[in-house]
Amino acid sequence: LVEIRGVHKSFGDLEVLRGIDLRIEPGSVTVILGPSGSGKSTLLRSINHLEPVTQGLISVDGEVIGYRRDGDLLHELHEREVLRQRTAIGMVFQSFNLFAHMTALANVVEAPRRALGIPRRRAEARARELLALVGLSDKTEAYPRQLSGGQQQRVAIARALALDPKVLLFDEPTSALDPELVEEVLEVIRSLARAGTTLVIVTHEIPFARDVADTVVFMDRGRIVEQGPPAEVLDRPRHDRTRAFLQRVR
Ligand code: ATP
Ligand code: MG
Repeated sequence: LVEIRGVHKSFGDLEVLRGIDLRIEPGSVTVILGPSGSGKSTLLRSINHLEPVTQGLISVDGEVIGYRRDGDLLHELHEREVLRQRTAIGMVFQSFNLFAHMTALANVVEAPRRALGIPRRRAEARARELLALVGLSDKTEAYPRQLSGGQQQRVAIARALALDPKVLLFDEPTSALDPELVEEVLEVIRSLARAGTTLVIVTHEIPFARDVADTVVFMDRGRIVEQGPPAEVLDRPRHDRTRAFLQRVR
């Protein structure tokens, strides 16, 4: 579903991604681990073209992100085409980024109305379903400031789902939460995984990764050091750097 081939990304002289190759199968859950600064967020952001890559290609469902293929040539896509591609790639951030002046319901209704032109009544009905799915049926009229961090993050997940994305990317979805609120958000992500949603999750929650991941990818200094099923990468890591990292986060 997502194909990342030979991706490099530099900020000025700093090469942050140094040749990333990764395939994400439909319906799979991929967890990305790695030390701070290893390029995890940059990789997620390049999948939806928030960061244009300096070299290599990323495609989702056969469509090159950010470019139009013309024989062997690639032409940069117009901004509105990139926005259209982005609707297929949901993203949930560490900081929930809800619209503060809108209720939970309005936050979830906004994107499909605006990006897909879905009529209000249909968008609202779907938003109510999604808020129920994340356990917030009783909070549809609440404003973000009236919600706990865990509830806000669940609204953000419902909002990302409202565009029916082909793949949903999570960048440390629980690291801004108080410890007692982490589990309710992880449980929502688990239920998405069970339902067959294609997920890519950057997290430091190792037991959760073991539980939910089909593939664990360990990144260090802009490269994928190893990848494989959790039973291999987490329990029998082959590389010293993976071992050292796992000892530190455990
Ligand atoms: P963390 O676990 O701390 O979130 P990460 O693995 O997500 O780390 P990135 O955020 O991808 O790491 O950053 C990788 C490197 O790229 C870091 O050295 C960072 O300082 C640098 N970097 C990221 N974004 C930019 C930017 N917009 N301009 C310049 N440098 C950047
Ligand atoms: Mg990051």
